[in-house]
Amino acid sequence: MYSITFFLLLSLAAFVVAADLYKVLDVHKSSSERDIKHAYRKLSRKYHPDKNKDPDAESKFVEIAHAYEVLSDPEKRKIYDRYGEEGLKAHEGGHHSNPFDIFQSFFGGHPAEQARKGPSMVMEFELGLDDLYEGANIDFKVKKRVLCDHCRGSGAASDGDIHKCSSCGGSGVKVVKQQIFPGMYAQSQVSCTDCQGRGRVIKKVCPHCGGAKVIDHVQSYTLEVQPGTAEGHETVFEGEADESPDWEPGDVVIRVKTRKDKGGWRRKESSLYWKEIIGIDEALLGFEHNLTHMDGHVVQLRRNGVTQPGFVQTIRGEGMPIPEHSSRGDLFVEYTVVLPVDIPSDMRRKLTDVFKPLASGHDEL
Ligand SMILES: [Zn+2]
Ligand SMILES: [Zn+2]
Repeated sequence: MYSITFFLLLSLAAFVVAADLYKVLDVHKSSSERDIKHAYRKLSRKYHPDKNKDPDAESKFVEIAHAYEVLSDPEKRKIYDRYGEEGLKAHEGGHHSNPFDIFQSFFGGHPAEQARKGPSMVMEFELGLDDLYEGANIDFKVKKRVLCDHCRGSGAASDGDIHKCSSCGGSGVKVVKQQIFPGMYAQSQVSCTDCQGRGRVIKKVCPHCGGAKVIDHVQSYTLEVQPGTAEGHETVFEGEADESPDWEPGDVVIRVKTRKDKGGWRRKESSLYWKEIIGIDEALLGFEHNLTHMDGHVVQLRRNGVTQPGFVQTIRGEGMPIPEHSSRGDLFVEYTVVLPVDIPSDMRRKLTDVFKPLASGHDEL
């Protein structure tokens, strides 16, 4: 009896506890500050109510802001890890920051025209027509530069190694006096050469990136190809291009192209084209052929009577899938008639008999 009550209480408690903040940002418990920033950058833009008109977007946006506020602050994160949401409430006294203020300060200004964006990487993927017909998940890797996780993009061994430039006093510019005539000087401002105009110098560079601020990194992604994906279709992996302390990373854009292959199928938008070869007997008398489609299902090609060379038969609903519709385009089968290279003499005699009335112009047949 006692144990049952206890169990009920436990499951009730689990029900009341808010969503795991790590899950909200879709990051692991051991994620670095950089991963958390990255996740927030991506998700907050996706769910910003100015952009996302989904009715649930706003509450999701608020959740994401709260998760970021906690997990990006080492002290709050420590409290959350040990004592959960209850511990945070005790710590903050129920105070929550405005999620829009968090967004504003993260992106520095308007969400639409935030910090300068770095270059995007556009890559072309050649896929077989069968992958575009059936749909596919394509794994690929991108070699890119990411902020060094040791110095977090400062280039210095530690924060204590970043000093104010002594020759420009931290302003990044120097005033130089130039003598134009004896006793006459011109003053001009030039960028400080000791700090390259940054105003700060690094006494000891980061041992991990050698002061480059970024390191090479290979990241894996999966491209989901929907059945019927259009030629030239672009999938955008937002904020996944090269990182730099000077910009917001651009996007990785994957453009789909159809590989020229030997399969024999051709596509134009939702239509498919196929060339089928028939013999002269089939062209004259009719036939039944089985055509194996790209996914292995069989389409029956049937003709009664005469089929002219180059005749195109339309087969409804056997073309490419149309994304976001549950329909398909049409299949156009063009018939090519092949004649025998040679005919045996007895067949030649028989054919002569058969065709004689036709050749003489009478329709006695
Ligand atoms: Zn570094
Ligand atoms: Zn300087």
